[in-house]
Amino acid sequence: MAEKKRGKRPKSKSKHRVSKKYKRYKIEGDKIIRDREFCPKCGPGVFLGKRKLEGKTIYYCGSCFLTIEKKE
Ligand SMILES: [Zn+2]
Repeated sequence: MAEKKRGKRPKSKSKHRVSKKYKRYKIEGDKIIRDREFCPKCGPGVFLGKRKLEGKTIYYCGSCFLTIEKKE
């Protein structure tokens, strides 16, 4: 019986990246400052992605695909 070589594949780093939600919070004194807005549809806990495009700021929810445009 021929032996099959079963090489262990290295874990892909993109799939096993830890969510850095805790980095979105800053604590100043006894206040918690969030540098991102929450998704109005998904509620607190779901942060919106931020993207600047042609003078506009676009917030994008990765969970429900909601897109909000804001002019600065
Ligand atoms: Zn959402």
